[in-house]
Amino acid sequence: MPELPEVETIRRTLQELVVGKTIQHVTVYWSKIIKKPIEVEQFNDALAGETITDINRRGKFLIINTTTFALVSHLRMEGKYGLFKSSEPFDKHTHVIFHFTDGTELRYRDVRKFGTMHLFLKGEENTNLPLSQLGPEPFSANFTKKYLQEKLKKTERKIKPVLLDQTIVTGLGNIYVDEALFRAKIHPERKANTLSSREITELHREIINTLTEAVEKGGSTIRSYVNSQGQIGMFQLQLFAYGRKGEECKRCGTPIEKIVTGGRGTHFCPKCQKTKNK
Ligand code: ZN
Repeated sequence: MPELPEVETIRRTLQELVVGKTIQHVTVYWSKIIKKPIEVEQFNDALAGETITDINRRGKFLIINTTTFALVSHLRMEGKYGLFKSSEPFDKHTHVIFHFTDGTELRYRDVRKFGTMHLFLKGEENTNLPLSQLGPEPFSANFTKKYLQEKLKKTERKIKPVLLDQTIVTGLGNIYVDEALFRAKIHPERKANTLSSREITELHREIINTLTEAVEKGGSTIRSYVNSQGQIGMFQLQLFAYGRKGEECKRCGTPIEKIVTGGRGTHFCPKCQKTKNK
């Protein structure tokens, strides 16, 4: 599932590719992706004739702004956008096509069909679900150490699921939570309310650092993905924990372990990240 850095990379790429283009019409092949309005015809009617003005991001959501509307799009597991010429073929996994007046089209492809799109009048997207439930952006002024401390001290949940909870901080997923916890030397199963002030300082800093590095890495790879079909936004940050089960910890050499925490595969170094629940 794309996390904040991947979605940010997709946002920047789409910004270059589609801003200024006018939608001639929209074709929806799998209507369940369109969550609002309920009638797909209304979705199509609303967007026909609209010009794309800007691409924003909130957490893991892309917001495609047009002259009148804000289209809130979540890619979930497998959703991908790609820009094509209308003459190019597409497969059965392409579910939504935005046909532009210049003969190109933005295609939404989603093998698992878990992605969602909500259409709002511009300005109404932030005060309605799904965006209204999101916590602060990790890069925003609202995401302070004090804020994080306040949230953590109120819960006995394990720290990993708390960080995955998009109402607390938005944008983190399985990969970057494992990485931030590794860097902050905090065991993923520590109870949130047992973290010391110093640990929260580290964690807060490493959440921001990890995501910043990933966004920069994504930014540096944008160009190579502009022409690759439906693969924009895919890149790999050098990882310390995630996906490294059995490999040596880059800090101490101990094999990285994998456990299941809150239903999610979780990677950590048993030496650098001690449990010590008090
Ligand atoms: Zn280690």
